[in-house]
Amino acid sequence: MHRTTPPRPVDITTEFPELAPLARTAVRLHPRPGEPAVGDSSVGGPLLWPRDEPWPTCPEHAGPWHLGFVPDEVRAQRRVLTAAWARAEGNRLMLTPQEREVVDRVGYSGRRIPQNGPVPLLAVAQLYARDLPAAEGDGLWPGPQETDLLQVLWCPFEHGDDCLPQVRLVWRRAAEVGPTLSAPPEPSVIDNGDYLPSPCLLHPEPVTEYPAPHELDEELAERVRAWEETRDYLYQYALSVAPGWKIGGWGNWSFCDPWPMECPDCGGPVRPLLTVDSGEWDNEQSWRPVEDEAADAAPGVVHPQTHEPTQVTIGRGYTMQVYSCERSFGHTALEVMQ
Ligand SMILES: [Zn+2]
Ligand SMILES: [Zn+2]
Repeated sequence: MHRTTPPRPVDITTEFPELAPLARTAVRLHPRPGEPAVGDSSVGGPLLWPRDEPWPTCPEHAGPWHLGFVPDEVRAQRRVLTAAWARAEGNRLMLTPQEREVVDRVGYSGRRIPQNGPVPLLAVAQLYARDLPAAEGDGLWPGPQETDLLQVLWCPFEHGDDCLPQVRLVWRRAAEVGPTLSAPPEPSVIDNGDYLPSPCLLHPEPVTEYPAPHELDEELAERVRAWEETRDYLYQYALSVAPGWKIGGWGNWSFCDPWPMECPDCGGPVRPLLTVDSGEWDNEQSWRPVEDEAADAAPGVVHPQTHEPTQVTIGRGYTMQVYSCERSFGHTALEVMQ
């Protein structure tokens, strides 16, 4: 089903024409629970991976054991919770003894689990160029011209100052893949169930974004602030940057001020490529697609909640932004938590 973001409460460029040249198109991916195959764009689905190409691993997490969770146990727990909430009456969850055992096996803190050799990366997402909406000019494909498939994997353990799973991006031509790997290796242990995406199909939709207020020049930001006082919504949340998983657009600066962002390899400029979000819309719900209103308004509890389809959580409900170098797609991606 197509997904449609409701119109913004105002065309902000009629109020502030100087914002018009700063407009960027972001593509909201709108992941929703499904059963993706290798030929589908997905979050948490199987990747179209050449049979003879080694599956990437993380040398920094090599075992012989790690504290964490078993991916299949997390999946089993999710299945039980989905089924149990579907039959629950009101807010009371009733589990059979067998279900209770499956849920409790995962627990709240990790346990010591053996891992032989470097941990295989987890498949996080893949996006076929054909699934991106057509746009004027060069289209919305964010990668090298000769490619038509983006694959995203990550090490399911925390790395770096921002304590984020470390991303690996792979750009391909789908037609060149040939025979595919049918059973890719999977980590025996992951740091956190929050880093295990649930299988979702994508419903990409282009939207127009403007810079977060933190990225506007001081004088313009001040005028926007004054204008907001006459409105019952805020520029930042209603008009600038869309929530949810997306390609391109502007960075979701939120809890800290932007700092100069540069490519870790060459020091060159970087641009938002992919945003991984803990939720698809916030409490104000102005970004909730119209097709999701009915499900969201239905009584009772559903698991996962409609705005958390991937079951990925970054930090305390933040976003993970992946920036790519404007000089070379081969350079290391920059990751930021916001
Ligand atoms: Zn790692
Ligand atoms: Zn670079």
